[in-house]
Amino acid sequence: MAAIEMRNIVKRYGDGFQAVDNVSLDIADGEFIILVGPSGCGKSTLLRMIVGLEDITSGDMIIGGTRVNKKAPRDRNLAMVFQNYALYPHLTVFENIAFPLRLKKTPDAEVTEQVNRAAELLQLTEHLDRRPAHLSGGQRQRVAMGRAIVRQADAFLFDEPLSNLDAKLRGQMRTEISRMQRRLGTTTVYVTHDQTEAMTLGDRIAVLRKGVLQQVGSARQLYEEPANLFVAGFIGSPPMNFVPGRFRGGEIETPFGTVSASSERLRKVGDRELVIIGLRPEHFEDSSLVPAEKRPHGQIFTAEVDVTEWLGHELYAYVPYEAPPEVTQQLEELERELDSEQMRTQLVVALDAGSRIRSGSKAQLWFDPERMHVFDAATGENLT
Ligand code: ATP
Repeated sequence: MAAIEMRNIVKRYGDGFQAVDNVSLDIADGEFIILVGPSGCGKSTLLRMIVGLEDITSGDMIIGGTRVNKKAPRDRNLAMVFQNYALYPHLTVFENIAFPLRLKKTPDAEVTEQVNRAAELLQLTEHLDRRPAHLSGGQRQRVAMGRAIVRQADAFLFDEPLSNLDAKLRGQMRTEISRMQRRLGTTTVYVTHDQTEAMTLGDRIAVLRKGVLQQVGSARQLYEEPANLFVAGFIGSPPMNFVPGRFRGGEIETPFGTVSASSERLRKVGDRELVIIGLRPEHFEDSSLVPAEKRPHGQIFTAEVDVTEWLGHELYAYVPYEAPPEVTQQLEELERELDSEQMRTQLVVALDAGSRIRSGSKAQLWFDPERMHVFDAATGENLT
């Protein structure tokens, strides 16, 4: 097993395009790390540089203490699991899993033992005689993982392994991959563009945007203390609400009224005028349901609720609004990158399922300003 250290890694493709920009990241031995970001952010390129399928323009890639920049993929002892599984259609499940052992001319008895052990771990024992065409997508995925397991690689590298599966199976496979990784304790790097996958798998998440590492941390850290607007908008579903505002006299003027927070909370805002405040949907409440002891800490505003959705455990309310044009550039760019159309035009609030607020009504909503984030409107940096 091995730690993976990346030092100032840069990737420039032949046409001069810089896909990875000075990334430094330490992955501990046995750690499960997720590389996540929107399409084109450079996550597959980074993974391919770890495994050796792509040249490194500059920087050092160190695996198990050895610099591997010039090492061929086969000499790195890593196992990669691709989106399309790369199974051999003419071979049985047994022989597909055994393939790396056959290449090494491993004795038959040992092959049988190792394949059986992997098959048991992945619940494939009863399918060992089948061919890939007679397996479900999830089973094929497990065969691909079985092949990685028998190689006894120093690290597993996954490139969007679940993107061809339906939602239910994806959920199941997520649990299986977590379980397998925990049991084997093998260093694992997992690439995905799906923030739910990123949050539910792995020990830490590394968020990439346009080839630049934005933040590395646990799901909780990224959710509660996002470094910038991009991470805040990317992690969480429904996403954080962003509302442009003007910071004046220690308060923030927004389309929903003036927001006050403690000077401690606003300390880093300094003399900036244009800011963007961020509030998670679940940080709003129906003001009539807020317990008396919480009321004094919060702020209440009147919202014109367009549509509500009752989901049993909570109620979503959509509140349209018009963001002032001078501070929308950051949000416009974010909408494009995150493929979301509504960051500048509506709030999404998640209320207690017992709320009586209904579509097309005026509602009194409550929130606690001490929970809000304040971002620099120009750079997106989180100032709270
Ligand atoms: P996706 O989820 O869509 O696969 P990604 O984050 O994995 O995206 P990469 O595949 O790493 O992104 O690509 C990063 C950027 O580098 C993209 O803009 C892509 O167009 C560009 N790129 C990838 N391969 C090449 C290449 N061989 N030559 C030039 N540019 C490339």
